[in-house]
Amino acid sequence: CGIIAYTGKRQAVDMLLAGLFHLEYRGYDSSGIAVLGKNKIELRKKKGKVEELKKSILCHPLSKSTIGIGHTRWATHGVPNEINCHPHQIGNITLVHNGIIENYKTLKNSLEKQGYVFVSDTDSEVAAACLNACYKEERHALKAMAKAYQLLEGSFAFAILFEDHKEAIYAMRKHSPLVIGYGEDENFVASDISAFLQFSKKFITLQHEELAEIKKDNVHVYNLELKEVYKEPEISLLDA
Ligand code: GLU
Repeated sequence: CGIIAYTGKRQAVDMLLAGLFHLEYRGYDSSGIAVLGKNKIELRKKKGKVEELKKSILCHPLSKSTIGIGHTRWATHGVPNEINCHPHQIGNITLVHNGIIENYKTLKNSLEKQGYVFVSDTDSEVAAACLNACYKEERHALKAMAKAYQLLEGSFAFAILFEDHKEAIYAMRKHSPLVIGYGEDENFVASDISAFLQFSKKFITLQHEELAEIKKDNVHVYNLELKEVYKEPEISLLDA
């Protein structure tokens, strides 16, 4: 299972597919991507190999876009099929998730009482609804993430698109790994550096209780009190 997200000057679909191919070694049963088109977020998901996802996109192309998120899924909650496949979308939130939300049943019950309707069997869709509920209260992406961070138990790495923040990818993690790659007028988020190593060797490791806002020409990391955290980028010694 793996995460790749891209914002920059090149076609997001190409960059996300390249990243997903590099993450295949981690194991997975399905894959999917979301790109921010002109007016809305477009999703494509496929059971099976990343090659199937690529074929589907070649047959029915997504809109041109320079920002998006991608995922290879190793199902823990819900069988491998297109509905359970990531990205998951609820309201203005579209996200990919690695890990397990341990308290998803309790959260799901209370979110259903608030009117949320779930289409998948995943814990990840519950996380998307939780974030959406927090966003409705806070009306601020990072504040909503900080609030959701406290509510979600278990392990997670998320790359998130907010439909009304078209310039940025947001990321946070607990236990599951996440790194942010720095390029020239382009930046990456991934489960591990192999996903973007051919484009950039400069990276930071996101730590627990850190929230990241990634735009094509800058990256900002905050703690849960929304105080900015300075992180010195490292240079990977690995070869692409
Ligand atoms: N628990 C999530 C699911 O089953 C994420 C699995 C993963 O890490 O790929 O969809």
